Amino acid sequence: MQIAIYPGSFDPITYGHIDVIERGARLFDKLIVVIMKNEDKHGTFSMEERMDMIKNSISYLDNVEVCIGEGLTARFAEKVGATALLRGIRAISDYEYEMQMAIANMTIFEDLETVLLVAKPQYSFMSSSIARTIAANHGDVRVFVNDYVREKLEEKFK
Ligand code: ADP
Repeated sequence: MQIAIYPGSFDPITYGHIDVIERGARLFDKLIVVIMKNEDKHGTFSMEERMDMIKNSISYLDNVEVCIGEGLTARFAEKVGATALLRGIRAISDYEYEMQMAIANMTIFEDLETVLLVAKPQYSFMSSSIARTIAANHGDVRVFVNDYVREKLEEKFK
């Protein structure tokens, strides 16, 4: 059974993330979405809030699990029996960072293959941070996030 992890901040989950999850779920037998704790980034939503929004957004996908992870992503992958690490690339600016991470992860767990999915053009401009900024200024985030997440953003920035 081929297991992949999809680590990230998901603060909050956008349509771009959902597209990567759907595509990953088709490529692998099991996909584990991992909300990674980051000591440097405080974040807008708590880990539990992010988990709730992800679960609510992808409940129709049977082979996708969601969990919270900490420490080294590659170690986490090894622990859960994953052999692939899924990430998305929106632009060349993402590529440099993703490549650095892929090489770092390779040195920690050499059997872990990083799989980079190119964002669909309609999602290539989407990021959690832009959605947060728009919501914080009471703008319309419907292009970025689903209704459930939009309501959570509106509540957060009321
Ligand atoms: P991180 O803080 O680890 O970059 P994010 O939640 O911002 O976490 O993103 C997780 C992964 O999803 C990254 O690989 C990122 O490039 C990818 N991603 C984010 N937004 C999109 C999008 N709109 N389309 C495709 N991939 C995306």
